[in-house]
Amino acid sequence: MIIILFGPPGVGKGTQAKILSGKFNIAHIATGDILREAIAHGTELGKRAKNYMDRGELVPDDVVIGIIEARLKEKDAANGFILDGFPRTIMQAEALDRVFAKAGVKVDRVVSMEVDKDILMDRLTSRRVCRNCGSIFNLLVDKLDGALCPKCGGELYQRDDDRRETIERRFEVYQKQTKPVREFYSAKKMLVEVDGLGDIEAVTGRLTKAVKGY
Ligand code: AMP
Repeated sequence: MIIILFGPPGVGKGTQAKILSGKFNIAHIATGDILREAIAHGTELGKRAKNYMDRGELVPDDVVIGIIEARLKEKDAANGFILDGFPRTIMQAEALDRVFAKAGVKVDRVVSMEVDKDILMDRLTSRRVCRNCGSIFNLLVDKLDGALCPKCGGELYQRDDDRRETIERRFEVYQKQTKPVREFYSAKKMLVEVDGLGDIEAVTGRLTKAVKGY
């Protein structure tokens, strides 16, 4: 099964993609996670990507397309995967089409999670991530006693790109560069819209229905 999970910054793609990958036993492939890992390890890729990410800009297409091409060749992707945060430009979507055509595989569903921008802004500025286990929390909904992860005790931090000015820029970038990708899949009649508002379980339920309903 191949799923593309699509939606604006902060809509909950990462959280839901992780749950769905477990549910359907498919790999969770998130370009943002791969890039953050490269930054944490101080690799050349990480150094190149950091400047763009801190400013809320997209990392150049050739870089992320290269990452995805390599990642899709890994063993765990053979059973299917869910793409989270890719493709984000028309050029990436076209490159992905070529990769799939060459491999003779086809996307089962492109699911677009939809939530109002003002709500997303509040969610993003309240997001905290565990430096140790990568779990994502939200100050608005999770009862956090201190600055430590309730799951593993790791340090919780705010992503540099979750600051208000950067988020504004990320929304602009989404409107200009990523929204057309939505139209790209919509025109191919591959897109299913899902309301992303509500608690995590409710949204997972809607997404599961959308994925299974093909
Ligand atoms: P995310 O975790 O998906 O919100 O991604 C965080 C940041 O990583 C984005 O704001 C971009 O700077 C970069 N990034 C992630 N995926 C892509 C992509 N497909 N194309 C370009 N930049 C990306």
